[in-house]
Amino acid sequence: MIPSRYTCSSCNESLAVPDAENYYYTGNISIGMPVDNDDLYLIPVRPAWCKDCASLCMAENIRSIRDFENAYEAVRSGKTVEYPRETENLDNEAALHEVKTLLQWRMSRRRAARALCCGGENYQFMDVSLPLFKHAECDFGYMEARYLWPGSYNGPGPGVNSPANIRLYDPEGELIGQLTWYKREENKWDTEKLSYPRAVEE
Ligand SMILES: [Zn+2]
Ligand SMILES: [Zn+2]
Repeated sequence: MIPSRYTCSSCNESLAVPDAENYYYTGNISIGMPVDNDDLYLIPVRPAWCKDCASLCMAENIRSIRDFENAYEAVRSGKTVEYPRETENLDNEAALHEVKTLLQWRMSRRRAARALCCGGENYQFMDVSLPLFKHAECDFGYMEARYLWPGSYNGPGPGVNSPANIRLYDPEGELIGQLTWYKREENKWDTEKLSYPRAVEE
């Protein structure tokens, strides 16, 4: 469960946690063109503080290959798992496909886990018992997680009435674009190109 906000125990400064729904794109279509929904895999993430951006972010949560193999074995024997993705709401065939694909991705992944705001590695995880993090100009507080339970939602889903703007990454964690409109009849998403902000070079 990813918190909605972190609030300071001393001054009540409160920071919103960015959206935890981000996808790896495994297809070959160049972004800007519609992509298949079936080529999208939810990125395992943990909330983090990016020291380069000085903001809360999602960072990739990349555990050992052994953890991915164990998850695959568990799903193969009919169990549900929470990592590398929650499979409780999937049927077993879909869960097996997801976890197998993520295992293959894990075996070929080269880069260390990155912050999904800027692609950097200068971050610290927030979901630890007392995050060693102090926000600017506050000496006494520490940031505590706050959870807001979303109400049940019966709308048409993201990308139907307004652009979803869900971010897409390549398998090495590079920002490549975002999903905008969902086209149900083709099970495809319209996309726009995006990339990480780059530090201005001298
Ligand atoms: Zn404070
Ligand atoms: Zn960052």
